[in-house]
Parts: sequence; C-alpha cells; structure tokens
Amino acid sequence: MIRFEHVTKRYADGTTAVDDLSFEVAEGELITLVGPSGCGKTTTMKMVNRLIEPTAGRILLDGRDIAEADPVELRRGIGYVIQQVGLFPHRTVLENTATVPHLLGWTRKKARARAAELLDLVGLDPAVHGDRYPDQLSGGQRQRVGVARALAADPPVLLMDEPFGAVDPVVRERLQSEFLRLQSQVRKTVLFVTHDIEEAVRLGDRIAVYGEGRIEQFDAPAAVLGAPATPYVADFVGADRGLKRLSVTPIERGDLERPPLVHLDDRLSAAAARLAADDARWAVVLDDADRLHGWISAEAVRAGRAGDTVRDHARRMEAWLPLGASLKQAFSTMLQHDAGWIAVLDGDHSDHFLGVLTPAGLHEALRRSIEAEALGADRTEVTVDTISTA
Ligand code: ADP
Ligand code: MG
Repeated sequence: MIRFEHVTKRYADGTTAVDDLSFEVAEGELITLVGPSGCGKTTTMKMVNRLIEPTAGRILLDGRDIAEADPVELRRGIGYVIQQVGLFPHRTVLENTATVPHLLGWTRKKARARAAELLDLVGLDPAVHGDRYPDQLSGGQRQRVGVARALAADPPVLLMDEPFGAVDPVVRERLQSEFLRLQSQVRKTVLFVTHDIEEAVRLGDRIAVYGEGRIEQFDAPAAVLGAPATPYVADFVGADRGLKRLSVTPIERGDLERPPLVHLDDRLSAAAARLAADDARWAVVLDDADRLHGWISAEAVRAGRAGDTVRDHARRMEAWLPLGASLKQAFSTMLQHDAGWIAVLDGDHSDHFLGVLTPAGLHEALRRSIEAEALGADRTEVTVDTISTA
C-alpha cells in the first residue's frame, strides 16, 4: 500500500533528516514509527502527503509514484491527525468534522450525517457534543474530533503524528484502546508516529524503530522487545522494558498467595488459631458471603479481649483488583493505598475473593512475562475496559 524506495530528505541547511529509507506497509496495517525527538519521524510522515518533498528516492502509494499525483488530490485520500489538532475554533464540532466532505462538494445534509456517524464512531455523542465549539471540549475529546475529521472522507490511509502526545496518561490510555477498537472496524493503512515505545508496542502491528534518519529495526512488537536487532534498539526499548511488560501482563491465579482466612463473626480465639496454624502475621477477613471485607493483624488478635469477634478489630481493605487486571494496575494500586499487598477478586463471579498479590508475586509474574516474551511467545493481551467520554 505504501512503499518507500531509498528515500532521502536533506533540508536546505544540510541536515539529513531521513537517510536512504526503504520499507513497505501492507494494506490495513498499523505501523508505529518510534524514536527519540529529531530522528526524522515527522519528516517521513510529511513526505507521504507531500507537505515535504524528498531529495532522493520515491514513494509509491498503491503502486503509483506520489510525485506524479496532484498534491490536493493526493491529500484527499490521506487522513492526517496531528497533536495540536488544528480544529477551527469558530466552527462547531460537527462542522469541523464535516470539513473534508464539504470540500468534496457533498450536500450539507449528507456531510453532516457523515460527521455525526464519525463522531459516534470515535465515542462522542453527536447530539451532546456536535454543536459545541472546540474550546468547550477536553483535550481528549478534541483529539477524538481530530480523528473523526481525518476519517470523514473515508481515506484509505491515515497519518497520525503523535496524536495523543499532549493528553494526560489516563486519557491517553483510553484514546489508545478506543483507537485500536476503531481500527479493527475501519482497517485503514496507518502510519502512527510516537516517541513512546509503550504506545508503539501497544498499537503497532509492526514497529519501525528510528535511529538518526534511519530505521534500525522494522518488526513485530514482540520481536522488537524480545530480540532487538542492534545495540541501539536494545538500549531504546530496554531502558524500561520491565515497566512496559507491567502494562501488558495480566494477574493470573498462579501469581496469588493464599493467606489465612477468617470471617467477621469469628471469635478472636478462632482467628488466633488460624494465624498460629500458618505462622502468619495477618489474615484476610471475609463477610458472610465470602466477599472481601479487609484484614486483621496477629497483633490486634493478641491485644483483643477474649469475647471479641474479628469484626471488632478488622481493618477495611480498599486495595483490590479483579483477576486479569494488569500488573501495572496492581503496582499503582499498591502505591495509591500504600499497601504491602492487594486483594484479587474474581470479577466475573460476584467478587469472590481469590487471593492476594504481594510484591514478591508481582516480581515473579513480571519475570514470567519477560521470559515468555524473550522466548518469542506472543504478546499477552490485556483488555482494558474503556469508559466512553467523560
Ligand atoms: P522527529 O519528528 O522525529 O522529531 P523531524 O522529522 O521533525 O524529527 O526532524 C528530523 C531532523 O530534521 C531534525 O534534526 C530536525 O531538526 C531537522 N529538521 C526538521 N525540519 C527541518 C527544516 N524545515 N529545516 C531544517 N531542518 C529540519
Ligand atoms: Mg515530530
């Protein structure tokens, strides 16, 4: 679909931004271009829609040399999303989204209907957001409008230059999962620029890792992470590989520990016996329906009066996650609650308590994940529930 043949771009001041670049992107493929700032990613992108002309080499789109195409015509077939979305401030969301259909001469009615359909597709309710102006939207919502607008004329190719770079990490994660879902429906050929390897791994069918002006490795995410082609790539992806794996590795049953369990109505003497049997310093406290209530320490059990129940001395536990949540969520939940462990519940079956994840368990799970990946196993997918627009 897109083919670079020995493409070089030298700017007037002598900077070689892109040096003898050759690669090919198949139809419907999502390629992430990742690398540090200044390595030539934006230059690569802008040569595809001819905002920049190459110094040497050629670029083929669907087998045709784009140098011979009319640039305006060419750009109609290429959606373009950038970080500073560039929405028209005095036009409503619906009008902004309908920009290209208007340019193409569609009737107002047809263009608006198409715009509404696209807003819906990117998770914005046209009835709620359609008549708002860009400054009445959050940063994440503006990015969604940018994506909707780029898709409006149904172009086969989408260029996205750090589209989610300016939003906070939580919104970015949501936009990423929404974009993946969208892409699974529309199947565009996408070049997606990012400087964030985690984003590149999450989104890309394949990743092009840029060094200065050249591609150091062009491969599937697992291959880039598991078998870096050059020391440069190893350094680029390896710096925080563990952190990256955290977000794609789910908590599994085997990662959990089973501390002693007591119930709210148990006598302290019974709790003491349970703790002594396991030589444990604390126990998990469940309610009558075996749902998580909290925990109780061996100290509290010793200090309590003989007639007391667990209920009188138990502490609530708010740090919990469903099985299948990512290790990253587990880690951040531990930090957020300043907890030395978190409870893991069977989210699918009435929050049944399954066990606890400790830092040691988390570490084990992470090692398992890194090893599995190095052996070439596929990426483990974590499904992230998306909350539609706030
Ligand atoms: P990236 O998007 O990866 O950050 P760019 O493609 O924007 O990188 O830039 C690649 C290199 O080309 C950088 O060294 C940058 O300074 C240089 N560059 C970009 N645009 C121009 C320009 N118009 N004139 C001269 N040098 C440029
Ligand atoms: Mg750039």
